[in-house]
Formats: sequence, structure tokens, C-alpha cells
Amino acid sequence: IVDEGPVKSWHKSVCRYCGTGCGVMLGMNKDKLVRVRGDQEAHNKGVICIKGSMLDKVMKSPERLKVPKIKKNGKLVESTWEEAMELMTKKFKENLDQNGPTSIGFYGSGQLLIEESYTANKLFKAGFKSNNVDGNPRLCMASAAVGYTQTFGKDEPPGAYEDIDHAETFFLIGSNAYECHPPLWERIMLRKKADPNVKIIVVDPRKTKTAVHADVYVPVLPGKDMLLLNSMCCVIAELGLIDEDFVGKYVNFSDGKNKITLDEYKKFLKDYRPEKVADELGITPRQIREIAYQFASSKATMSLWTMGINQRVQGVFLNNTLNSLHLITGQICKPGATPLSLTGQSNACGGVRDTGSLAHLLPNGRLIAKEQHRNEMEELWKVPKGTIAPKPGRHALAMFDGMVTGDVKAALIMCSNPAQSLPNNRYYREGMEKAFLVVSEIFEDTETAKFADILLPAALYIEKEGVYGQTERRYQIIEKLREPVGQARSDFDILVDFANRMGQGKLITYKTPTECWDEYRIISKSSKYDFSGITRERLRTERGIQWPCPSEDHPGTVRRYIKGDPFADKHVDANHKVHFYGKPDGKAVVFARPYIAGKEDVSEERPLFLTTGRVISQWHTGTMTFRVPELNHSAGPGRFVFHPSDAGAQGVKKGDKIEVESSRGKMEGIVDISRDHETPGVVFAAFYDQKFLVNNVVSDDHDPVSKEPDYKVTAISVKKLS
Ligand code: SF4
Repeated sequence: IVDEGPVKSWHKSVCRYCGTGCGVMLGMNKDKLVRVRGDQEAHNKGVICIKGSMLDKVMKSPERLKVPKIKKNGKLVESTWEEAMELMTKKFKENLDQNGPTSIGFYGSGQLLIEESYTANKLFKAGFKSNNVDGNPRLCMASAAVGYTQTFGKDEPPGAYEDIDHAETFFLIGSNAYECHPPLWERIMLRKKADPNVKIIVVDPRKTKTAVHADVYVPVLPGKDMLLLNSMCCVIAELGLIDEDFVGKYVNFSDGKNKITLDEYKKFLKDYRPEKVADELGITPRQIREIAYQFASSKATMSLWTMGINQRVQGVFLNNTLNSLHLITGQICKPGATPLSLTGQSNACGGVRDTGSLAHLLPNGRLIAKEQHRNEMEELWKVPKGTIAPKPGRHALAMFDGMVTGDVKAALIMCSNPAQSLPNNRYYREGMEKAFLVVSEIFEDTETAKFADILLPAALYIEKEGVYGQTERRYQIIEKLREPVGQARSDFDILVDFANRMGQGKLITYKTPTECWDEYRIISKSSKYDFSGITRERLRTERGIQWPCPSEDHPGTVRRYIKGDPFADKHVDANHKVHFYGKPDGKAVVFARPYIAGKEDVSEERPLFLTTGRVISQWHTGTMTFRVPELNHSAGPGRFVFHPSDAGAQGVKKGDKIEVESSRGKMEGIVDISRDHETPGVVFAAFYDQKFLVNNVVSDDHDPVSKEPDYKVTAISVKKLS
């Protein structure tokens, strides 16, 4: 709340930050944002967190980048837009001509608007024939996307936030919702208050602020939770709690290659009996049995997870197995029973997963590798058959690795800060130093902006218009309420201008975000992600609409795959109550996924696990929230946080300067101690602080399928410096 005069008009909008996608009301005094409050009519019912309540302060930061800059003699100096765009065009043309489409790339963000990601994706894949389109969502939810697609045949969660109001058991694993998705946590707490039968189970190596409020807290050791999920499935099978009626009608079983029977699946689970795995997990067999029974026997169980599951070398298997827990118990397709992966960024779902702005995807769930999907998109985009290259492009780590090796020579980075957020950071920064980088940014002093050869001032939040799609498939509009600062332009305008200069005016024919949205929503019609009924006019008046939404009179879909869903019903076999319409036979898949030990494990040489995450008052790499004094003061500078027993064993105390070493390198840091939230054997570090680049030592091991890096499990040693 600020005091810049009275509110002259209120406007509904969406929070700029996280994937909760809270509806906010913005109070404007002419072109000044003077008040922010939660939108009572939106899904979050007026509840917002401290970050959202201070959105106005970021808008007022005096540190905004206001003019384009070009690097000359190692220094960024002011230029005109014309100079900057001409140089960018020249460099990309040169590389395309001399080194081919694979020598260029686009690195985007789950914070770009849908119209911006869609345009970049179309321009690079259909215009420049380069599939090197990826972005920071690869770092946060690629495993969830693959997990859903493999299990249900289609990406994005089947359920919705509304399920919180119906669930009897909450199973939170790898989610610190208290700090990372506060309005959802508050909704869970309200549900618990309303019904004494409600139980909250939290599985996490750290005793987070979420874990503190759990009815049952299960402190598994880092990197081991595949053992736990399989063990829970084993207990459910042993207790006869598999819903054989549901499974018989709606589920196939697979070992990952071939179909298997339910009996073969049960046999696979025997290796995970609680007595066999509990020691390795660091818990007791009884704890596993208790939570498995609670999960299966509850009236409605809702799982919520986020980076603790996704950012893992077994991220896809973990996601598959969470989905499996719901399928084998029939805890799905009814209110309150659903697997719901939470999202980190405001538009990672809508802007990147749905638009297909990743190296292996095309819009609306289509795959680059499938000829039929490429042909469909070529027809829809009106480009000759064979335009889209058949080989997927470089995923995030591979794109920056390509810069190190010299294979990727020029890239456009928008709305993202990989120089701080990539793991094994020093290595990938070498690539940023070598390649020709055009960086579109709102501030000049971000870690990535330092590597820019051309720095373009970008419009922020209500300085532009477009659509965000949050966790539960809900599309919401942000209206433009003021002009950009200085000479800043929206990323959409930059991309359209760039397309024209690159001779792609016939491909990118639309001139405004509204025209772009209309093109995109119409092409969704031929897919199972159909949201063609979500018009701009509806977005302006309604409080977001959840897809599928196949016609303008369709209210949107709260839950997928259930009878009564008018869209899913189009695909329903008369004998099936439930239909997983992404699968040819309408059946979801339960995978027998083994636990495979990761390379990062503790040893005599490196006796502690480092795990990274967020704190409530800071968001991502802190480029915005670090500029808000109130948020900054409450977070304080980045630290390595130890349990007192580990600090004692390492001979360090609060405030000591230490050197932390991992297989990826060394860095210095300061010790903090927390008895309340850290557990023995685990050191925590948040990654928001630019002066404390913890990703320098974080391992870049990644899931082999989703290519999402593991930020949660790095073995470290500690040396006291002073
Ligand atoms: Fe914004 Fe996320 Fe906070 Fe909601 S929870 S106000 S979307 S930062």
C-alpha cells in the first residue's frame, strides 16, 4: 500500500509473480498504480501474499532500464532503438546464413505473456526453422509436464484449486506452500478449520514452515522419495486398498516399455516393502504404512507438489508415481481427489507449456518429433510442408552448453535471468560470455544483463497487455493501464519488429496482442487443448476461464476427465464413466518406475546435502522483489542455513565465513543456523540473492527425459574460513 493520492479507478488484473495466479485489483490514479488488493471475485477470493501486495513498489523502482544499450569496448552504452534492432537483425541474419538455424536460439520465460511466447515460438520454429526455443520453465516444471503427458496423454493438471475445498487428506510432497503459494496454503488451513477430519501430510527433507503445520510430517532424506512413493503403493496393494473396479475400467499398467498386468505391477512393488526401504529413507516402516493407509482410505485425497519433486534427476518418475497413487486408489476424477502440481511462475503453464515454447514442443500439446503434428502446425501457420525441422532443438542446459562449445552463436533472451538461475552456473556463464546475446530486461544490473551485447528496455506488467495461464488451466488477462517507462517496449512489440526486419512479415501478420490471441485461440480448436471459446471480450469481463473451453457459451472446465465435463463427454464411450481422452483407449497409465540412486550422494569427502529453494518475501532471482525495501529487509541476504548439530559437527557458528565445495566447484558464504526448520544432514540455501550465487555449486545433473535439473540434491563439504 502506498500513499500517492486517492484511487481514481479500480481495474481487475493478475499478480505478476507466481503460478498461483492470484486475481488482484489495481487502484490507479491516472497512470500511477497507487493501491493493490486481492480480488474478492477471483479464484483466490481476495487473498494475496506479501509480494503481490507490493507490486506497485516494483513499478516505481528508479532503477528501471529506460533506453536500449549496445556493448562497445566491453561497456554497455546508450543507443537508439533503430541501431539496436538493426545490429540484432544483422547478427541473426549473419548466423542464419553462415551457420544455419541451429546456431541461433530463443530463451524465454514463464513470465512472458502468452502472445509473446507464442510469437517467439512461431517466429523461430516456422520463420527461422530453428527449434532452439526453450526457457526457464524447463528449470521448474518440465518434469510435471512430461509426467502428466505420459500418464494421461495430455499435459496440465486434471483438477483445480476448488478441489482444496473438498479434500479430506492433503498430501504435500516437495512443496513449501506456506512460503511459496501462500493463498493456497491459507485455503488448505480454512478447509482444515472447517472439517476436523481433514489431515495434512507433509513429506520434505526440511522441516519447512509448511511441515510445521502438518498432522504428519515425514522427514525423508534428500533424493530418496521414489522409495517412499513406491513403498506407499506397495502398502496399498498389500492392504487390498487398490480400487480394482476403477483400475479395471480406466487404467493400463506399464513397465515403461510394455503393458504389464496388475499382478506383475504388484510383484514389482514387493521390492519396496516398508521394512526394506525405511532405513534408507531415514524414517520408520510404520510412518510409511500410516500415510499410505491415510492416502488410500480418505474420502478424497489431494496431492500437491512443486519443485521438490520436479527439480530432480528422477523428476518424471516421481511425477508418474504420484499420478499412479491417485489412479490405483481411485482418488481422482471426483471433487477433492486429484494430483495437482503447483507452478512457480505466473505463465509457465499457459505461456510455455500450452503454447509449446519448449525445444521439443509445438502449440497445444503437439510434438516436434511427430510428422503429423508438424504438418498440422505448418498448415495452421500457412507455411510450406517441411518448414518445421523434425529434430527437437536444444533444451535450456543444452542451449547454454552449445554457447560454451561455440555451436550456438547468437540468442535472444527475454524476461529471464539464466546467469543466476542455471545450476553449475560458472560453466554456463562461460557460454554467455562467448555468444552474441540480445537481452530484453526491465533492469540493467541483473546477472544476465551483464552478458548482453545488446540490452533492450522491456515494458513491465501493466505497461503492456496480454494473457497469463496459471496452474489450474485458468487464462486471465492483464490490461495495459499505463505507458512503459522511458523508451521501453513490450516484448511483443520487440518480437513483431524483429520479425519484420528479418523478412518474416508474412508469417507474423498480426500487429496487436488481441489479433495474436485470436489467431492462437482459433488454432487451438483442432487440438485437445481447445480454448477457442475464450475470447478477449470474455477475458475482460470474467474472472479467468479454465480450458478446455470449446465454444463462446462454454463456462470452462474445472475438472477434466469426469462425467459431466461437456468437453470430455464428446470423447466418452457410453460405457465409460471416466475417459482419459488423451489416450487412444481412454485409459490412463500406471507405470512401474524403479528408484535409481542419483550420482549426488553424501560421502566422507562431502558429508552434507545442499538443497535450494525460496523464502516467502522473495521471488525467483530477486530481480524485482529485491528492489522492494520491505521485502528485502524481511528476507535478509542469502546464507547457508544449518541445523545446529551439523554446524557443531563442522565446527561453525552463525555468522562464520565458510567455503562450500561440491562436485561443480567452490564458493564462499555465511553460516546461519535454524533448529526449527533445518534437519540434520541437510543445508538449505535460497537462490534469490544476486550477491550469493548458490547455483555456482549446485549440480546440473538432470532428469534424462524432461531435462529438468536437480536443484535439490547436491553433496557438499564445508570449510570454515573465518
Ligand atoms: Fe502473487 Fe503468487 Fe503471492 Fe498470489 S501467491 S499474490 S500470485 S506472488
